[in-house]
Amino acid sequence: MIYQDSLDFAASLDREDPLASFRGEFNFPRNKNGFSPVYLCGNSLGLQPKLAVDFVESELEKWKDLAVDGHFHSERPWVNYHQHATAGFAELTGAKPGEVVAMNTLTVNLHLLMASFYRPTPERRKIIIEAGAFPSDQYAAASQVRLHGFDPESDLLEWQPRAGETHLRLEDLRDMLEREGHSVALLLLPGVQYYTGQVLDMQAICELGRQHGCRVGLDLAHAVGNVALELNAWAPDFASWCTYKYLNAGPGAIAGAFVHESHRSPDDFLHGWWGNRQSTRFEMRRKFDAAEGAEAWQMSNPPIFSLAPVIASLRLFQQAGLDRLRKKSTMLTGYLDWLIATRFDNRIGNITPAGSRGCQLSLIVKDESIDAKALFDRLCERNVTGDWRNPDVIRVAPAPLYNSFVDVFDFAERLSDALDD
Ligand SMILES: *Cc1c(COP(=O)(O)O)cnc(C)c1O
Repeated sequence: MIYQDSLDFAASLDREDPLASFRGEFNFPRNKNGFSPVYLCGNSLGLQPKLAVDFVESELEKWKDLAVDGHFHSERPWVNYHQHATAGFAELTGAKPGEVVAMNTLTVNLHLLMASFYRPTPERRKIIIEAGAFPSDQYAAASQVRLHGFDPESDLLEWQPRAGETHLRLEDLRDMLEREGHSVALLLLPGVQYYTGQVLDMQAICELGRQHGCRVGLDLAHAVGNVALELNAWAPDFASWCTYKYLNAGPGAIAGAFVHESHRSPDDFLHGWWGNRQSTRFEMRRKFDAAEGAEAWQMSNPPIFSLAPVIASLRLFQQAGLDRLRKKSTMLTGYLDWLIATRFDNRIGNITPAGSRGCQLSLIVKDESIDAKALFDRLCERNVTGDWRNPDVIRVAPAPLYNSFVDVFDFAERLSDALDD
């Protein structure tokens, strides 16, 4: 693709974009200081789909009109409401429908899944995470180690970039496993690193874990709805993802979880009545009768109003198709990268590896005379929404469902303006 630095060119790409109409399916934030929104923050909180409003309102109406009958006698009965997310989750993650379930929120799921898949013994007790792990994952892993009576100081190992580098190298994980693999119980790693935007080789990670007899769990918070996933084939033991980032389901919306089909009837998980087979659940027996597959990991009846937007949002993904989204995303992020390199080569760079990235670019200020945080604030004044991540990164992520090529061009214009201010 030959890019050009002009509004006409950006507008022409939008005219040719087969997904352009999806932009109209979203509510955008307000104008600010006379600037229309350039929203590049879908990696943190996706925009609101208009359909999500309809879906939430519809369930509020059902509660009002049907009350308890909403559980069984409704258009989408609450008793199996979570199943409306199953096909969408399975498509986005390359899973079989029986391997995925909508439940809880991400960190809660990581803990519940670790309750099943992190079963340390004195000989094999360690967890490998990455050194820059999202704090919640780091806290979750460290506390699991501690809960089992071990010491995170020695038993939480970190895969880290080499000195002077920002991205993770697979060969370093391989070396670590060669040395320590016999004592490692679990690899808990992301699909996309949240700070750098690096897409990790999840297939190779799963393969390495298997070779060394470790369980593998993937945190797909920044990967789902962003890059192609093949969970059934890659076969991590478990995975989980939140739905408010690229999946646009709103703050704190219900998360997704994956348990590989090879784990059929495990005895080792925490039971609740929603994990009981639906056909016998209301017989109120004493003995737990596990549902098939990932659904057995559910515990409580789910919060419908936090699940409704997930189901609405997944419909848009199913209509757009991840293949087409990925194709557009590659062009959008490619255009962003090209504009920044063309206009600001000496002043702004990015630490996201070009060969392994999704939507996001993690921008850094190369020119030491520029105060990066002040620059970020000037972008905010111009109604650009990205996000600042300590110590020195501005993350921007054009989302192919609702961002346009003109958004990317406008970002470059406002960045030029903010730099000159
Ligand atoms: C966004 C994100 C979280 C957030 O966790 P919640 O439980 O949804 O609050 C956790 N881990 C990673 C890697 C994330 O990117």
